[in-house]
Amino acid sequence: MACEAKRPKVRFRQIDLGDLETEYWLRRTVGSFQLSIQVQVCKGGVVADYGMVAQEDIGEGEVLFTIPRSALLHQGTTHVAALLEQEKDSLESTSGWVPLLLALLYEYTTTQSKWKPYLSLWTDFKMLDHPMFWSKEERDSLLRGTGIPEAVDKDLVNIKREYRDVVRPFISKHPDMWNTRTHTLELYTQLVAFVMAYSFQEPQEEDDDEDDEEDPPNPPMMVPMADMLNHVSKHNANLEFTPDSLKMVCVRPIKKGEEVFNTYGQMANWQLLHMYGFTQTHSDNDADTADIPVINLYKAATKEPDGDQQLLAEMWELLRDKEAFVFGKDSCFTHTELHSVLKVLCMSREEFLEFKNNDGWEDDEDEDETIFQVFSNDGLLELKSKWRRLIHEAARLTVMGYPNLDEDRVLMEDQASLERLSRRQRNALKVRYGQKSILDKVMELTK
Ligand code: SAM
Repeated sequence: MACEAKRPKVRFRQIDLGDLETEYWLRRTVGSFQLSIQVQVCKGGVVADYGMVAQEDIGEGEVLFTIPRSALLHQGTTHVAALLEQEKDSLESTSGWVPLLLALLYEYTTTQSKWKPYLSLWTDFKMLDHPMFWSKEERDSLLRGTGIPEAVDKDLVNIKREYRDVVRPFISKHPDMWNTRTHTLELYTQLVAFVMAYSFQEPQEEDDDEDDEEDPPNPPMMVPMADMLNHVSKHNANLEFTPDSLKMVCVRPIKKGEEVFNTYGQMANWQLLHMYGFTQTHSDNDADTADIPVINLYKAATKEPDGDQQLLAEMWELLRDKEAFVFGKDSCFTHTELHSVLKVLCMSREEFLEFKNNDGWEDDEDEDETIFQVFSNDGLLELKSKWRRLIHEAARLTVMGYPNLDEDRVLMEDQASLERLSRRQRNALKVRYGQKSILDKVMELTK
């Protein structure tokens, strides 16, 4: 992160009312909002709808804009903040998003809302095209094998439950602020997608506590102007949080005319599509990943010629609750879990009995870096032969779970056919293709 003291002096735009739709309300209502003359919000000439473009060369460390905390829209700043605070116990939910969503339901539909000029950028939320708005058939056919259909099914169940059990009873109790005719499940679901794609979460402060308990994540909030920036994995700007304000800071030189890209985090294509409704080309997304379900490693073990099926079935009872193994472009991110599961699946009956009697192994944190290397792309080439076979077969079984294996390859190489696809088909193809490319590489390295 750039150091405050070393930052060059920023020249700020003279705010000129009526200049650009998106500098709108911040200029009019938020005193200390500052936008550098080096950037401009544009519609067109950016990767998606609105975005920010450099008006001159920008150096690393320059502040592009500063948003005072009073401009943020969250449960503590909304007009209904006191009520949300007073009744916070009844608004608890697994997502932790209900207070912000109630604030948005209120502010979005109230003409005298302080945030009206900001929220009126979105006359409706029809532009959101997250897979949660696709039909179930579309999701299941286009996205089979990617993990997205399962994630969306879970989301939809949770959204309905949260609305029915928490939101609707609360709304009914406060008819002067909300009503179920306006604040419907449909609008609530659209706002969930809006929060997924446009909100920010302040990073947790470093926790010095001795106890291992993790603090719950900070609730999401809306950050006007920062939410105009698009994302790429090789981003050139980043949002910094300070006690009084949030600053968008340039993190690598940007040339005049180039788009300013924020980062939404390390996002694989399936996560980008699930949460934001878009994808990057696999080769441009350094953070792309593919999952290998644990069951496929187990199935691979049962195919080994010397496999003791009874013993493997007992092992499976112990392993079945494990999450999938996540492979990136250069290594396995869940290397310690993969290491443990491979060790179990390769045990003799005696070793497995001892392992169960000891309640597993003691964690050896020092080994972490070594294990990481073992399952890096270089490490996979050197892996012992049984582990290589198991990973190879598990990756192969996973690849078989995707639809249209051969057609996808052909499509990706033919720009004209690619352009004929609908947006949904193209996004789904990019997710499938990226995941299969990673799995193909794992198979190549372990063959
Ligand atoms: N372009 C957005 C707008 O005009 O409202 C501003 C960014 S908003 C925080 C996030 C949304 O922008 C995403 O849901 C997606 O629709 C779009 N987006 C962001 N980065 C993108 C990219 N690299 N390619 C395509 N769409 C992108």
